[in-house]
Amino acid sequence: MTIPAIITVAITGAVPSKADNPAVPISPAEQIASTEAAFRAGASLVHVHVRDDAGRSSSDPARFAEVQAGIRDRCPGMIIQFSTGGRGRAQNERARPLDLKPDMASLATGSVNFAAQIYENHPDLVAAMAATMRDLAIKPEIEVFDLAMLYATQSLIDRGLVVPPPHVQFVLGIPNALPARRRLLEFAVAELADLMSGATWTAAGIGRHQLEVARWALELGGHVRTGLEDNLKYDRSRLAASNAELVEQVAAVCPDYNRHPATPGEARAILGLPPAS
Ligand code: ZN
Repeated sequence: MTIPAIITVAITGAVPSKADNPAVPISPAEQIASTEAAFRAGASLVHVHVRDDAGRSSSDPARFAEVQAGIRDRCPGMIIQFSTGGRGRAQNERARPLDLKPDMASLATGSVNFAAQIYENHPDLVAAMAATMRDLAIKPEIEVFDLAMLYATQSLIDRGLVVPPPHVQFVLGIPNALPARRRLLEFAVAELADLMSGATWTAAGIGRHQLEVARWALELGGHVRTGLEDNLKYDRSRLAASNAELVEQVAAVCPDYNRHPATPGEARAILGLPPAS
């Protein structure tokens, strides 16, 4: 018996463009097709940003609705997670797509420096978005870009804003934020287990760290994230051909750690989500 590993595919993100990698899906039709291929390759959770017609990051609920409908139709049971991330989006619009009741939504619980900007998440905004997710029965994926965000999660639980047990993602390898160091991940995972019993976790390695961090997470009992949002290249020599190719890459190493790509049903059970309707 191998142990299921949820593979998240982060298909688009807020930043990458077709100039960076022509495989980055930008239009809703491209996003749906790219997600379907990744689903067939073993992804059971999709992390969704949308873009406007000029390719800029957007909070437009109509775009989110179109992508959500297409993925529901083409990828039965797949967990759909909307980004509420701030890059390129007005702060007061980041929560608007939550009215569409995705299965999950990302929730950064603090602010942090990135390479050339401040990723700003005011405590009031964090609390308001958490409350909206709670009230709409949307499970947050807590995004930990800095260790303080882990402890802030405990505070949200204590205040009744996040329903335990949480699902946490550790993001490693963004310049100025947490580096991709295995000892750091091991510490963070131990702290999570100590503070929040029953919590589940994923790790995402950014850029060239993607596969290495996925291997650590598989070995340490966590779940994994891949996709063109985080990394544009297959290896040092070439660009990734698709999101599906990156999913295949991580699916192929699962057996090294006695893991297998979780089915949508397994992923929903692990995260405490209801079966797909
Ligand atoms: Zn994202």
